[in-house]
Amino acid sequence: MSYFAVDDGAHSHPKFMAATNAALGLWVRTGSWVAQQLTDGHVPGTVAKLYGTPAQARSLVAAGLWHAAGHECPRCPQPRNGDYYMHDYAASGNKSRAEIKARREQSAAGSKRHRDRQAPKAPPPGEQLDLGGDEPDPPAPVRAPIRPDWQPTREDIHAAQVARGDAGLPPLTADQIDSVTTKFIRRQTDDGRLAVAWGGRWREWAENERTASPPAPGSNVVPLARAAGGSTADTRAAAAFQLAAQLEAEEN
Ligand SMILES: [Zn+2]
Repeated sequence: MSYFAVDDGAHSHPKFMAATNAALGLWVRTGSWVAQQLTDGHVPGTVAKLYGTPAQARSLVAAGLWHAAGHECPRCPQPRNGDYYMHDYAASGNKSRAEIKARREQSAAGSKRHRDRQAPKAPPPGEQLDLGGDEPDPPAPVRAPIRPDWQPTREDIHAAQVARGDAGLPPLTADQIDSVTTKFIRRQTDDGRLAVAWGGRWREWAENERTASPPAPGSNVVPLARAAGGSTADTRAAAAFQLAAQLEAEEN
């Protein structure tokens, strides 16, 4: 992206005072177009007509903000017949087409160098040892602190709810799962714990969470259905998945 410069003295510059606000609207709009199209200050007549009226263009020329073909400003190049040139385009702090192109190429080259540095390097041919294995070693898992936005997976919630059912504990509501998760993250952070994955520890917390009181009527609880003749893993699993889906839907 490039920018069209409007300097901090422009508001009261005599040339601005001489032009109408409507004409200045045309000046800014075409200025933005010129900066985007990298025309180095040239405004095609077609673009002037697209963004403003002939009277506005005349006002800009009369104020000296634009030049028409045949102008006598010694500082500015001549536009083609029917086009305009923005007076002092380069001297007003606008970057030239050449400067912007060079900067973009530099930054593209910089990004490529950065990507190349990031890419894993193969050892030089002489240093390659063939130990018989074709597969490279998988990267070692990295133990890291828990992220503040960590969330249990559907499977974690499912497993915890099933275990609670087996232990005769009520299932956790969506709010209770949020609250267990918040407490869990805080504790792991406070203790400075590092882990590769957090699901297993969270399940233990969720399985053992003692809920203070039975959920209020109408709260977001998914009961573990008791099938005729006692609960089955299948009905508990279904209930747990239903809750997980509900949590997911709430997040979205
Ligand atoms: Zn000029």
